[in-house]
Amino acid sequence: MNEQLKLLMDVQETDTYIMSIAEEIDLLPGKLLKACNSLKDYKTSLDEVKANYERSDKKKKLKEDELEEVQEKIKKFKAKSTEIKTNKEYEAHLKEIQTFEDNKYKIEEETISIMEALEILSKDLKKDEMRFKEAEENFKQEERALEKKKNELYSRMEVYKIKRKEIVGKIDEKIYESYMNIIKSAGGVAVVQTNNEVCMGCYTNIPPQLYNDIKSTDKIFTCYNCNRYLYYLPQNEPARNGKDN
Ligand SMILES: [Zn+2]
Repeated sequence: MNEQLKLLMDVQETDTYIMSIAEEIDLLPGKLLKACNSLKDYKTSLDEVKANYERSDKKKKLKEDELEEVQEKIKKFKAKSTEIKTNKEYEAHLKEIQTFEDNKYKIEEETISIMEALEILSKDLKKDEMRFKEAEENFKQEERALEKKKNELYSRMEVYKIKRKEIVGKIDEKIYESYMNIIKSAGGVAVVQTNNEVCMGCYTNIPPQLYNDIKSTDKIFTCYNCNRYLYYLPQNEPARNGKDN
């Protein structure tokens, strides 16, 4: 095989690696954002329960104040009973006390149901707090893992870039220029295999004579349709289009 073509295959393979690493790097911020949004969901849920709890707690305090007030009124009213002179007055007095007592009972009932709700909310709050803490820890772990992954990917990319430089140094300048033009215009793939008289870059048929020449001569050929460099590997050998290995 033509030495320059071999080098083109090598640089293509390296470029494919570099591009796939770059793609992986590009995905990292999205992954972090996803983890961050999941944490936010836990926080929202926790804040809701917290707000609910605080609302109920405030209600409970209001009811306690109301209860104190009504108890005070009952006490004052009862103290007045010594001043009562007639039966009629006394009956009216008892009626009024009863109204206050009824009100007191109602407030007590309401307080109990609020306290029951508070008990449930308090359990929910503890659960949500724990879940949030766990989610926060997971997020931090994920963040660290993604940072580590990013560093790994960058250093891997550096290795390939060094390798690439070495290969490019050996490629004829004009050929390299053309390679780079195809890379830019043909979606990052400039060197492709031919298989059964087909260009594996654009799936166009290759004329039989050209196919024979690719197989049997030491020259460099390109696809007349997509301009990509073509190479031939005997069947049963693994394809070398840079995407596997
Ligand atoms: Zn083609």
